[in-house]
Amino acid sequence: NVEPPVSPDAWVNAPQTPAPRLHASHKGSFGDIAVLGGATGLAGAAHLAASAALHAGAGRVYLGLLDTAQAGGALAIQPELMVKPLAQWDLATMAVVAGCGGGADIAAHLPELIRNAKYLVLDADALNALAAQPAWKTLMANRRPESTILTPHPLEAARLLGNTTAAVQADRLASAQALATQFGCTVILKGSGSVIAAPGQTPRINPTGNARLATAGTGDVLAGLVGSLMAQGYSSWQAACLGVYRHGRVADTWSHPQALTAVALAHNI
Ligand code: AMP
Ligand code: MG
Repeated sequence: NVEPPVSPDAWVNAPQTPAPRLHASHKGSFGDIAVLGGATGLAGAAHLAASAALHAGAGRVYLGLLDTAQAGGALAIQPELMVKPLAQWDLATMAVVAGCGGGADIAAHLPELIRNAKYLVLDADALNALAAQPAWKTLMANRRPESTILTPHPLEAARLLGNTTAAVQADRLASAQALATQFGCTVILKGSGSVIAAPGQTPRINPTGNARLATAGTGDVLAGLVGSLMAQGYSSWQAACLGVYRHGRVADTWSHPQALTAVALAHNI
């Protein structure tokens, strides 16, 4: 069992990284996480999530690409990652981030992940697949609420709720809370002022972040970051609040003349 390296409050109040680590710790002390995504043409999204998980401090990060032909490229960019197919993952002990660049192929794997992953983050095409399969809500209801995070942007949230983006945006707090209640888990409704909601919690509005984050791939980085924090022992609620805060803070403290890219965001977590 992995314990959080520092209390969430201490981490927010003293946000320098890395968090203190026991001298006698080893990579198994910091959790295993795997990313499933990267359909044809979309490997970058899965790679960004995996890279963010690594930079956020996870002990071991696995990358499962739906388009297996792209695996070599991912390794050349980030040799710390282990490219392994889903069949070789020990789901019962790890955090899984599913959907980043997942395309239509992710849907076939979702029931197994919802049933068996110890911790689970569903993003992007995994959310679209969930919206298209109302029966999977029953599978979601069998998960522990503190083990699961959904990370929809407003359009993904609208699909899950069966309404429109305008309706979601008209009351972001209520929309996030409705999703948290319906799916029995923590929800991050992304966008300017991301909302974090969970059953039994007062929803929070994240104070960090700015329009520098409005660029491709930043959502994938967030998914990997919050999954990494769950792998390291934080609850879904803590991981969501801390992860969204830190993600936005990188953008707020970005002091370079060039645009913030998702790669730079992941590297600066
Ligand atoms: P996605 O929509 O999946 O690409 O994710 C985009 C990420 O960037 C989310 O974490 C958003 O909350 C964040 N983001 C995008 N635009 C803004 C903005 N104008 N202000 C703050 N955060 C933003
Ligand atoms: Mg996205």
